[in-house]
Amino acid sequence: MQKGQISVQTENIFPIIKQFLYSDQEIFLRELISNAVDATTKLKTLASKGVFKDELGDTTIEILLDKEAKTLTIRDKGIGMNEEEVERYLNQVAFSGAKDFLDKYKDESGIIGHFGLGFYSAFMVADKVEFVTKSYKENSEGVTWSCEGSPEYSLEKNDKAERGTDVVLHISEDGMEYLEDNRITELLNKYCKFLPVEIQFGTKKEFIPKSEEEDAEMEEFEVPNIINNPEPIWKKKPADLKDEDYISFYNELYPYSQPPLFWIHLNIDYPFNLTGILYFPKLNNSMEIQKNKIQLYSNQVFITDDVKEIVPEFLTLLHGVIDSPDIPLNVSRSYLQADRNVKRIGSHITKKVADKMNDMFKNEREDFQDKWKDIGALVKYGMITNDKFYDKAKNFALLSNVEKEHFTIDEYKEKIKDNQTDKHNKIIAIYTSSPEEHDSFIQSSKDEGYDVLVTDTMIDNHFMQQLEQKQGDMTFVRVDSDTVDNLVQKDEKKESVLSEDDQKVVEEIFKGQITEAGANVSMKALSPDSLPVMITKSEFMRRMKEMQAMQGMGDAFPDSYNVVVNSNHPLIAEKLLKAENDEEKGKLAKHLYSLALLNQNMLKGANLTNFIKKSIDFIAK
Ligand code: ADP
Repeated sequence: MQKGQISVQTENIFPIIKQFLYSDQEIFLRELISNAVDATTKLKTLASKGVFKDELGDTTIEILLDKEAKTLTIRDKGIGMNEEEVERYLNQVAFSGAKDFLDKYKDESGIIGHFGLGFYSAFMVADKVEFVTKSYKENSEGVTWSCEGSPEYSLEKNDKAERGTDVVLHISEDGMEYLEDNRITELLNKYCKFLPVEIQFGTKKEFIPKSEEEDAEMEEFEVPNIINNPEPIWKKKPADLKDEDYISFYNELYPYSQPPLFWIHLNIDYPFNLTGILYFPKLNNSMEIQKNKIQLYSNQVFITDDVKEIVPEFLTLLHGVIDSPDIPLNVSRSYLQADRNVKRIGSHITKKVADKMNDMFKNEREDFQDKWKDIGALVKYGMITNDKFYDKAKNFALLSNVEKEHFTIDEYKEKIKDNQTDKHNKIIAIYTSSPEEHDSFIQSSKDEGYDVLVTDTMIDNHFMQQLEQKQGDMTFVRVDSDTVDNLVQKDEKKESVLSEDDQKVVEEIFKGQITEAGANVSMKALSPDSLPVMITKSEFMRRMKEMQAMQGMGDAFPDSYNVVVNSNHPLIAEKLLKAENDEEKGKLAKHLYSLALLNQNMLKGANLTNFIKKSIDFIAK
């Protein structure tokens, strides 16, 4: 038996390894199984090149638990190592690799997936590690390397019959959880679900018919419990896959969730290598979607489900898998964000998503419109936060009106520009955030021949602001804003049936009844079918107030609003002016004003009670 020092100059790194990010202790299993997969894949490559001429045989990697001996073993039938290689790869390469890694990152948390600690991560959970190996090379002798968590190791020959490696972990006192089947199953499911070599953990029962006859008796068999799917569909060619394959893979990733709306299969090999499938989940209009649904893999090894440094923020709402060996993993997050490949990956994914939507819009517009309520929020969010995406999405982003018709931005501008352009040549798009609440205003707008958009999702306010900024020639005003009736005034065809003098008289009657400080009375010649009196508000003021409310700044602006009296309405033009006496005129004006307040949900408390009492008296008369 040979004994040695792993590296004479180095301090003892084992205590540091043991402490290394307690929370991520569990990654040791991923690291060791990745090594086993590498060793197996290397052998398969050698076999395919004819360098390795023997039978490959079964190459399943086995995970073995021995609770009595307190060991966890990772067994592969890969290339194995001879003595000289163990010296070189475990004592020098792996050790200095681990040391470099710890030197760099022992003070820095948030390294993506903590990839790179490698073989020595075993010492996070084991007091003693044995590496029992035999090379695939002809006439090799097996060797066992053993180390008890100090820079000393021993190396001795063994009589291992088969090629490959057993990594035997003697689990330490504080790693006892790794002797539990459930815990190991959980980790295998998390990190190894799609590794490219079959991995077996124990056996499972399977019932197989005894004969080929239809009602043959079933017989119970113990079969290997293979925990992974070595050929996940993202590695396959899109041409070889059907919709069902994508949907069933989605179910494999996210059991019990609603089926996805559509998906994009990513398959890039230049200038970086990336495969994956991104799914569009049903978002149902809400932005409260669980993030962390995209899983990041590197050569089918699970790394993390936190991809915010890699995927543009708005796309983190998507689900699915991306797999790229070109994402540097043993680096800090800030470094990652600055990485050229990572930036390219982000913009490539953005482009693919936009292209896919554009195709859907072009080729299946009906279907795209149906899906809009589920993808609209994501598209709008993307257009607000990502300029490149905006430039593409502006061609397929949809606006919907109260008639439930859908338009692209350009189509909509074309539709309304003749009728809804103001004196500054701005196209005025009218919207309602709540068709229920704004019903009478919507009707009035329609009476004037205007179109009304419905913008009732959380993100719409920001989205409209973004459109105003980017489009330049377009303004959005709420259906109850004063801009809408100003729009009518621009329309010179509309004349008041009342003379200027009569208008003055009416205005004074109203002013006499309205005591609220913030109310400004004005006369407007609207359609006779519109309401006699309407309360409108300044779009600008309302937005300022909304913004303040959102920032929790309270209410700094006084409440002010317009009382718009429609001089063309018969109640105003005829009934009011012809009422018997001033008292009657006043009463009628007050009542109409109260109705307008009621319509804006502004009639409250005692005012509301009085109004109802008066209405009852009025009906009783
Ligand atoms: P990395 O895998 O990043 O190179 P590790 O510390 O995990 O670093 O391993 C160091 C080296 O030891 C590997 O590059 C490989 O050559 C060798 N090795 C580790 N595990 C095995 C194994 N199961 N079979 C064969 N060689 C292995």
